[in-house]
Amino acid sequence: MSEATIPSRASSSADGVSWNLGDLYTGIDDPVISRDLETALRRAQLFESTYRGKMDVSGGPPAEFLLAALQELESLSEQMDKPAIYASLVHAAKTDDPRRGALLTRTREQRTVINKHLIFFDLEWVKVPDDDAKRLIDAPALARYRHYLEQKRMWRPHYLSEPEEKILDEKSITGRGAFVRLFDETVSSLTFPYEHSGRTEPISLQQVLAKLYDTDRSVRKAGAEALTAGLQANGRLLTFILNNLVLDHRSDCDLRRFDTPMGPRHLANEITEPVVNALMTAAERHHAVVQRFYRLKTQLLGVETLYDYDRYAPLFPDQPACEWAKAKQIVRESYTAFSPKAGEIVGQFFNNNWIDAELRQGKRGGAFSSSGVPSVHPYILMSFTDKLRDVMTLAHELGHGLHQYLSRPVGYLQCDTPLTTAEMASVFGEMLTFQRLLQLYPEPRSRLTMLCGKIEDGFATVFRQVVLTRFEQALHKARHEAGELTTEQINDIWMAANGPMHGDVVKLSPGYGCWWMYIGHFIHSPFYCYAYAFGELLVLALVQKYKHEGAAFVPRYLELLSSGGSDAPHVLLAKLGVDVNDPGFWELGLRLLGEMVDEAEELAKRL
Ligand SMILES: [Zn+2]
Repeated sequence: MSEATIPSRASSSADGVSWNLGDLYTGIDDPVISRDLETALRRAQLFESTYRGKMDVSGGPPAEFLLAALQELESLSEQMDKPAIYASLVHAAKTDDPRRGALLTRTREQRTVINKHLIFFDLEWVKVPDDDAKRLIDAPALARYRHYLEQKRMWRPHYLSEPEEKILDEKSITGRGAFVRLFDETVSSLTFPYEHSGRTEPISLQQVLAKLYDTDRSVRKAGAEALTAGLQANGRLLTFILNNLVLDHRSDCDLRRFDTPMGPRHLANEITEPVVNALMTAAERHHAVVQRFYRLKTQLLGVETLYDYDRYAPLFPDQPACEWAKAKQIVRESYTAFSPKAGEIVGQFFNNNWIDAELRQGKRGGAFSSSGVPSVHPYILMSFTDKLRDVMTLAHELGHGLHQYLSRPVGYLQCDTPLTTAEMASVFGEMLTFQRLLQLYPEPRSRLTMLCGKIEDGFATVFRQVVLTRFEQALHKARHEAGELTTEQINDIWMAANGPMHGDVVKLSPGYGCWWMYIGHFIHSPFYCYAYAFGELLVLALVQKYKHEGAAFVPRYLELLSSGGSDAPHVLLAKLGVDVNDPGFWELGLRLLGEMVDEAEELAKRL
């Protein structure tokens, strides 16, 4: 086979499960796409001529006037974004179709043109003197937009002048945006030379990552080697992209006067640096739990040394596959048992084809739930490979979907949560499904298998994400101090960040050094990863509360989801009795993970 050969098409029980994006547009040639963009442009021009120069006036604008502006801004923003949201979905489903790439570029370009007429608004609002702003924020007429108004002013010290903002926005398409797209297209079209049983076959990233979960050690090892080889072959380009985006982030932070590269993320997350530090160091204090578990795994797998490619090995080769129909039933039942209302909403995702689950060449890897626009509904993308693990991914994305669906009434300007609580409903949904799976498979052997799976997921969500964050911290620091980094330098930083978690229990092969290359979070959203650790540990605490409070917890939890991003996370969580500013809070979830490892050790003795 030549290198250019398109890899053989993979299949799963989810074949044919593709989403119907018809609620957004009828297709990529739908004339309504252009019409929406044109209408949004006219509305934006009118918005500008109506409100420009009227915000930053002595005493601030009248409350009713500001309200009318916000309502129009909300409505036209939705119309402006809908085409680009649609384009990003059709592109994610098939990134190797140039027509979809072109639509994505066109809609984003148009969006930028329209947005230029709106940039003045936030800038004028942040210039309103504090006293007048406070009066407006507290005005009953503006209650619906209180948090939006408050939150914008948090960025006050970081805004540039209007012409500067316009230039940055315009240049970001050919700058940052272009490199992100180059990364996405490069990674999703990579092929990996998988060499097994005497033959070599080029396979996609999704397929090669799936090999790491295979029961057969030789398959995992070959998968790991193929992953390394495929990444190394593209090392120069992927190194360049990351170097460039790290530098771009730095210059953004400098221009906007952020002290640390994590500053913008903390502000967007509505979280303070001490809270994040407390979370990360608490996790790092529990590395012994990780290593205790990997020792157990070494013993259960009956191997001499546990290598990186053994970490995700299923414990017992007779693990059942789970087909799409069954996965759908399990996930739906687990949400319904928690709350019939949640179950009904989850049911809509399946019944109305809001999920894209089949395997497809050129499809973007990973999984996500896109909130879409409040006047429509969310859409989920994942690649279902018939593994029990995919059932958890499905439950995870549906948790996001449920959250996004419920928060639509708070409106387009405030429905999105910061990242820290964006993972709350997804991880909680996974826990519900996990408990359902435990009921369905009560024998010690199955129980141990699932428990270990959950522990590993917990590790991936807590400890690994802290490692990824430490890697990013060290990477940004090194890029700043030493200039452009070589692949080998980044590999070393990656290995150093991974060392403490794995200790001397997991042997990381030298090829592991380049495994940072395919991780999209570093490219799409710098310092995203700690939000996963935050979400997981928060959820472990919420699960405890649910156990303790029972049915009384359910409506309060759903209300929390319905609040979307209409207030700061610590305020919304306080209503559930959670205090994230207490450093001791993180110990709760970490102790639970430790107890799960205790239980696994006990179960293993009884086998
Ligand atoms: Zn998620």
